[in-house]
Formats: sequence, C-alpha cells, structure tokens
Amino acid sequence: MEDVAVIGGGAAGCFAAVCLKRMVPQLRVTLFEASERPMSKLAVTGGGRCNLTNSFEGVTSLSKVYPRGERLMKRALKTFGVADTLSWFEAEGVRFVLQDDHCYFPASQDAMEIVRTLASALRREGVEVRTNARLKALEPGWTLRFADGTLATADAVIVTTGGAPKGIPFLEGLGLEIIPPVPSLFTFKVPSPELRALMGLVVPAQLSIPGTKFRSEGPLLVTDWGLSGPAALRLSSYAARELAEGAYQAPLSINWLPETDVPSLLDSLHATHPQKQVVSTSGPLPRRLWEMLCSRAGLREDIRWAEMGHKSLNRLSATLTQDAYRIEGRAKFREEFVTAGGVALSEIDLSTMESRRHPALFFAGEVLDIDAITGGFNLQAAWTTGYLAANGVKSRLAW
Ligand SMILES: Cc1cc2nc3c(=O)[nH]c(=O)nc-3n(C[C@H](O)[C@H](O)[C@H](O)COP(=O)(O)OP(=O)(O)OC[C@H]3O[C@@H](n4cnc5c(N)ncnc54)[C@H](O)[C@@H]3O)c2cc1C
Repeated sequence: MEDVAVIGGGAAGCFAAVCLKRMVPQLRVTLFEASERPMSKLAVTGGGRCNLTNSFEGVTSLSKVYPRGERLMKRALKTFGVADTLSWFEAEGVRFVLQDDHCYFPASQDAMEIVRTLASALRREGVEVRTNARLKALEPGWTLRFADGTLATADAVIVTTGGAPKGIPFLEGLGLEIIPPVPSLFTFKVPSPELRALMGLVVPAQLSIPGTKFRSEGPLLVTDWGLSGPAALRLSSYAARELAEGAYQAPLSINWLPETDVPSLLDSLHATHPQKQVVSTSGPLPRRLWEMLCSRAGLREDIRWAEMGHKSLNRLSATLTQDAYRIEGRAKFREEFVTAGGVALSEIDLSTMESRRHPALFFAGEVLDIDAITGGFNLQAAWTTGYLAANGVKSRLAW
C-alpha cells in the first residue's frame, strides 16, 4: 500500500486529503499538522462566518482578484471551480447563502460548520491525522523529519503549509525557487487630522499610487488610523510587493468621485446655484466630506458658486479627483492578511501541482505564490489547488 503525506492541516491540506482518499481509497493518507488542532485558521475566516467562495460575477479579469496566480487559477478553475466547490460541500449537507457582494457563506453563518464538515469527512474516509507534527526537513525519496525527532516516509507528499511570513525552512535544500513572502490585505496608516475627523465614513472611491499602475476601486472606510475597506485592501494586495519594498511609505491619491464627470458636475452646480455657498452644496458627497474637501481646495468658507473662477473650480476638481495623502505604514485588517509569495509557480506543473524538479512532490494552497483580494477567492484557491494536487498524486501513483 502506498503512503501519501499531506503536510499542513489547513483548508488546502484537509480538502486535498479527503479528495485523494475518495479518488483512491486504497492509499494510506496521513495528514501532519504542526499545531494541536487542524483548521484553526479556517475556523476564524470571514469573521467566524467563513466566506468560502465567490460567484465571480462581475469579475472581468482574474488578475483583478488574483494579483498573483492568475494564470494558474484561470486554468485550474476549469477543473475545479465554484460550482464544484458548492456541490462538494452541498453533498456534505452544507447549505449556502449568496450575498449581494457575490460572497458565499454557509447558511448557518458559522465557519465551524465548514471545519466540522471537513473533520468528519477526514474521519469517514480514513485519513490519519497527526497533530503536533511540525515538519522540519523533507528529503527526496521521501523522508520526513519532524521537530519532535520522529520520522516518516511517503511515496508522495503534498505540501499545504499555508502562507509563510518567515519562509519555508523545510524546503531549503530542494533547490526550489521561493518568492520572498510579503504581507497582503492590510490597511493603510495615513496620518491626517482631516481624515481622522471623518472616522467611520464609508464612500465609494478610487485609490491609486501616483507614478505606478496600481489603482483600486470600491468602498473606502475612513478609520482613526487611516484608510480601510475594500478599496484599501485591494490596493494593498495589488501593490503588496512594491509597498513592502518601500517600507510602507508611499504617496496616495484618492478620487472621491470615480463614477462622476467632475468638471461637468462643477459646471452644473456653478450654473444652477450661483448664489449658494459652495461649502453647503455637497452634491453627491456626504456633507462633512465635501466641507473637508472644500477646505483642502483652499476655498473661502463663504465663497459662492458665482464667485468661483476657473482657478478655484480647477483646484476643487483636482481635490475631488486627485486628493493627495501619504501612506505611512500598514495595519492589519481585523487580523486578516494573506501572504504574497511562496513556492514560485514556475516550479510546478500547473495542471497537477507537482514539482517540476521533484517527482511526487506536490503543493496546494497559500504555500504557493498565489493570493487574492478578499471575497472568498483565497479559500477558493485552496479548494481548487487542493483538488488538483489530489488528482496529481492519483496520476503520479498511476491509479
Ligand atoms: C483571519 C483571517 C480570515 C480570513 N478569512 C477568509 C475568508 O473569509 N475567505 C477567504 O477566502 N480567505 C480568508 N482568509 C485567507 C484564508 O484563510 C487562507 O488563504 C487559507 O486558509 C489558506 O489555506 P491553506 O490551507 O493554504 O493554509 P492554512 O489555512 O494557513 O493552513 C496551513 C496549515 O499548515 C500548518 N503548518 C504550517 N507549517 C507546518 C509544518 N512545518 N509542518 C506541519 N504543519 C504545518 C499550519 O499550522 C496550518 O494549520 C482569511 C485569513 C485570515 C488570517
């Protein structure tokens, strides 16, 4: 009987182990988890509700949701996509709700339902789970050395040890290219008393880093330390590496009216309200934001539209669409972040997740250089690559 070792009991590892055992029940599949309990991160995903996938509706380009791993995901989703994920969990008795923002959650709104579902599938399929088993070294062949001094051997290995902010020491010596890890999905520290006064405000906005191609759109939340919400998290994901290289210091431009033709809007306000004070004509923006922007544009508090010359109109227009700030550090988003970087995708066969250098060595989940914006895309990558790796092992061992 052949042995398969799955290293890491997170979403990708547990899913891969169950899928593999279902594909080839004759295999002996052992899951090695470093901590006391598998799936502890899965249990807290989605604020404890587990946003386990996304309908992908409105996703025009996969590169917008997978800043790293787009090519792999484009291909892999054809083999195991959203519909497959939903039917897999539905067959286990999980019911889903699809939110207006295209995110899928279990109807129970409880991430523990997903954890229990996978745990019971592991038991039912006969996957042996070894906890407190931290892999320290991996030698081709395959020999596994654990931190407690124990050894194991396997005919095939699936590595699913997740994002690795401190690197992947047990892969050293295997000659694999590892893209240096940097955090993604964080919020921005933007020290600005004017922004701080707007704390709690949520508006649709476009963020960009001047001088780069990085821009993001979505709801922007003003916090007491700076900026958060989907627009900020997306930008942190798109520019994860560049922001890390710049020690999280960068210029930031905010377009507060990304959907509006601002010069036409100002012309029309100018024409229709000549005697009204500019500051009290907030147009489509919340009043306190508008007042702050008028002040940043250097407008006199009592100036009326009729008194606004070209220069003032241009200044206001520029403030509304290219309001300039500085990012001066990063903060975590409700403890949620993912790691950009990991095993380079050039190292693996994209259809089987097998190492190109080392036959019978497979990877799945965040240990790979794949990561996504928020919305269930990261877990979908774990399910998809976990399934592909299981399928890859099945083919490698010629079942
Ligand atoms: C707070 C939070 C909330 C999130 N919410 C969502 C969400 O709602 N939707 C979404 O799509 N994504 C979410 N994510 C991201 C998502 O959780 C991850 O992308 C996903 O868990 C990755 O799965 P994985 O199996 O690759 O890694 P992990 O889930 O991190 O699992 C890796 C496992 O490997 C084990 N391990 C590590 N090293 C070793 C070793 N040397 N030996 C043995 N075992 C080892 C770890 O202990 C861990 O159990 C969230 C992330 C966080 C932090």
